[in-house]
Amino acid sequence: MTDESKRKSSDGNFGSHHRCNFCGKPASKVKRLFAGYEAFICNECVTLCHDILITSPEAGDIEQTFDVPKPAEIKGFLDQYVIGQEYAKRNVAVAVYNHYRRINTLAEAAQKPVSDDDVELEKSNILMIGPTGTGKTLIARTLAKFLKVPFCIADATVLTEAGYVGEDVENILVRLYQASNFNQTMTERGIIYIDELDKIARTEGNPSITRDVSGEGVQQGLLKILEGTVSNIPPKGGRKHPEQSFVPINTANILFICGGAFDGLEKIIARRVGKKQVGFDAENLDITKDSPEILSYVEPADLLAYGLIPEMIGRLPVVAPLQPLDKNALFSILTEPKNALVKQYRQLFAMDGIKLTFEKEALWEAVAIAEKKKTGARALRSIFENTLLDLMFEAPSQDDIEEIVITPEVVTANGKAKLIKKSHKKTA
Ligand code: ADP
Repeated sequence: MTDESKRKSSDGNFGSHHRCNFCGKPASKVKRLFAGYEAFICNECVTLCHDILITSPEAGDIEQTFDVPKPAEIKGFLDQYVIGQEYAKRNVAVAVYNHYRRINTLAEAAQKPVSDDDVELEKSNILMIGPTGTGKTLIARTLAKFLKVPFCIADATVLTEAGYVGEDVENILVRLYQASNFNQTMTERGIIYIDELDKIARTEGNPSITRDVSGEGVQQGLLKILEGTVSNIPPKGGRKHPEQSFVPINTANILFICGGAFDGLEKIIARRVGKKQVGFDAENLDITKDSPEILSYVEPADLLAYGLIPEMIGRLPVVAPLQPLDKNALFSILTEPKNALVKQYRQLFAMDGIKLTFEKEALWEAVAIAEKKKTGARALRSIFENTLLDLMFEAPSQDDIEEIVITPEVVTANGKAKLIKKSHKKTA
């Protein structure tokens, strides 16, 4: 910009040859013209841009409240995607409702004078305990989808204390920031799922002379962001460089959902519940470590015995146990959820004009194989990928196929699918 235009931008006195580079109006037709680097903008365009910014969803303000769906609505949405796990879904629905109501209350309180009667609501981060592949991540992901808030998954096992080789705890926030499309306000209302929390439990017999890089230290690091802190994150991630610009992220309103299988926790619970049976307040519970409902008896003391530090347990007040999935649940998972595997594969084949039919026995066969793998519903997808791979490879180039029928033999790799040709002639 020349010295002359600089002078003019300060007093707004432009000649008729100056125009707004956005709307093209000359200086004489607008109230003010502002000069930038080799460009001008008029007062009308500034107002227009301002209006766009404040009404766009990107511009959500933390002081703004938002509609919180009722717990029953949250659970209703979860029901469409997550089979079973009634107790966990109810528990989580209430916790999430309370969490976002709390944010609203804070936003309202920010606009009111402080009163002595104000009760401070505490954040309800959630701990989901249950075997692998039973829907922990699915619940967290589905919640974020329903609430339209940014979501990211972090694996506790790759986290280390700052300064050690591995991922800094802060990087989780970077990922959430990226998931929010670099929107600070949305990031501060997002949901973070921290998987495998059980793997950073304090290990017994780990002397504190050497620092416990993988366990307690990481829990301490996580604790900071769980409690609520303002963390300056490098927007693009990676290690911090002094010359980089940072974005401050306040984690006070981020909902943390932690999950883990907590193998062996059943024994700890059974031992405690068992002790109770011989005491004065005997409840005569017929509970052993193998009872499917054993996890629903979990108490903070059990988590402490497992190796979580007390502060961490205190920051995860909502504990939602998940049940192992039985045969019927696995079968339902194949067919019922909105994006059930069977529906997905049908759609894939339908795109090639082919009807895909699964015989009921074929689905039960897949369930039986999955059950043996002991990875919950996780095994189902790989079973179908294996079963359908050849068909998915060949079918698109055969335009005379009308229908493919998957029999139990296809699933056990003992036979081929029935192909029904467009002429309605069956071939084996
Ligand atoms: P984890 O409990 O180990 O976090 P996930 O939630 O990641 O397990 O489950 C893995 C996959 O298995 C999901 O993507 C989903 O397709 C399926 N799945 C697991 N549990 C359920 C469930 N209760 N209802 C529906 N699908 C499920």
